[in-house]
Amino acid sequence: MSREPPRLQLVRTICRPEGTLGVVEAFRDLGFDFERFYFITDIPEGASRGAHAHKTLRQCIICLSGSVTVDLCDSEQKFSFQLSSFEQALIVPPGYWRDLRDFSTHCTVGVLASKPYDESDYIRDFETFLHWDRRKQETREVSYLPIKRYTDSRYVGRLASDLSESVRETLKSGQYIGGPEVSAFETEFAALCGAEQAVGVANGLEALQLCLMDAGIGCGDEVILPAHTFVATALAVTQVGAEPVLVDVEQDTGLIDVSQVAAAITPRTRAIIPVHLYGHPVDMDPLTALAKSHNILVIEDAAQSHGAAYKGRPCGSLSEAAAFSFYPTKNLGAAGDGGAVTTTTVSRAERIRTLANYGSRVRYEHEKLGLNSRLDPIQASILRRKLTELGGWNERRRALANRYQRGLGGIEGLVTPVVRPWAEPVWHVYAVQVQEGRREALQDYLREHDIGTNIHYPIPIHRQPCFSNKRWRAEGFPIADQFCSQTLSLPLDPLHSDDEIDRVIDVVRNYFRAGRSERATPNVG
Ligand SMILES: *Cc1c(COP(=O)(O)O)cnc(C)c1O
Repeated sequence: MSREPPRLQLVRTICRPEGTLGVVEAFRDLGFDFERFYFITDIPEGASRGAHAHKTLRQCIICLSGSVTVDLCDSEQKFSFQLSSFEQALIVPPGYWRDLRDFSTHCTVGVLASKPYDESDYIRDFETFLHWDRRKQETREVSYLPIKRYTDSRYVGRLASDLSESVRETLKSGQYIGGPEVSAFETEFAALCGAEQAVGVANGLEALQLCLMDAGIGCGDEVILPAHTFVATALAVTQVGAEPVLVDVEQDTGLIDVSQVAAAITPRTRAIIPVHLYGHPVDMDPLTALAKSHNILVIEDAAQSHGAAYKGRPCGSLSEAAAFSFYPTKNLGAAGDGGAVTTTTVSRAERIRTLANYGSRVRYEHEKLGLNSRLDPIQASILRRKLTELGGWNERRRALANRYQRGLGGIEGLVTPVVRPWAEPVWHVYAVQVQEGRREALQDYLREHDIGTNIHYPIPIHRQPCFSNKRWRAEGFPIADQFCSQTLSLPLDPLHSDDEIDRVIDVVRNYFRAGRSERATPNVG
């Protein structure tokens, strides 16, 4: 991963008899926004300037009149640019030592800088710079989730400025609740999910809760869900006053074990919430058939599966109603909280919309005991723009997951995730299973090598302190227990580079290589 190189960008000029106009637009031309303009002029013959580096500042240097030579270097490369026309804009990424020399007489150099003056961003001593630079090249951190890259044009190009623009426009519109951005997003998101309608709500938890409320599920009712999921799936059930009933998960996928659902059904069962965990769809056909035969509602928890498909049909259209979350880390994430319910029936969408809006359709008339759970337009405008990227991002997730699958195959003590033949997963999480007792050590090892990991989830639902008053079935949920103690999520994000994933693969392989020789030591005694 070498540093972004400096580059020359042509300045657009409009030549007219009355004079020449040169134009530089921040994001479009430079790839960054600038907050400071300065210029140097009246430079004595033969002088030189610069002799410093910036740690994070980005600059664009334009020689407005005369000529100048700009030398740039880091510990590995050297560049030299002769600027002799105002049509050349030199873009200097952070991390380069720079010298400006050979100024012509009557030279004026203008500089656009990405941030205000900040002395702590300077490195003014060359030896210090070299040391800083070498250390930087060595520590190649791979963060679990590189969320800041989504607003950095180097990684996402035009998207970065488009998002700012979306927020600005919505702010200017004065429409802060509901309105065209929310409606348009609902239409576009429903289309992605192959659903009849989508209703924007405040978050994923309430999306689930609203589906249960709408079905009149409450006190005395039971709702079936997997023992291994994010706590929200269970909390939605307790929020409406119903009882969560857990089913153990499949050993290889960690998804609800559909073959065990029938045994959990009682006369009080009103709904089942399958969770498409990690972005891999649940085997819906047998589950739907079972639910139908008992007249039970199915509500997908699709909070991790935006764009995933089961037998070619998208998640969010596989049951009567589905709940999505746009929490920032999800495959489609807002810049804050957000959620949606998708449904195959228009009337259900209308009812849920009403419930989420204080139970009101006509202003100040409240038909139902509702919630205030609405998707806010600023988030909707962000989500609309990001939605256009989702297909490409999910594709990229698939490619990186395949890279892991190939790179991590055949390691004793580590099991890579399985994909069912009927599934098109979207890899919200890339979770491996690590041999009992070695997960924490592997996680530490990766941390020492500047690689971030996560555990989804360390505690199964039946062991959550908030549910300590519940009486779960006596046999417990052994597979969920095992899953929680062995699962480790490796970095996988559309904005990770191939190199970053390869580095994770190398470090994981090294860990197990070292571990093997340890265990090969003869056990004396
Ligand atoms: C994120 C998530 C939720 C909850 O979504 P929020 O928007 O955080 O309320 C529910 N279920 C699952 C499986 C999730 O991953």
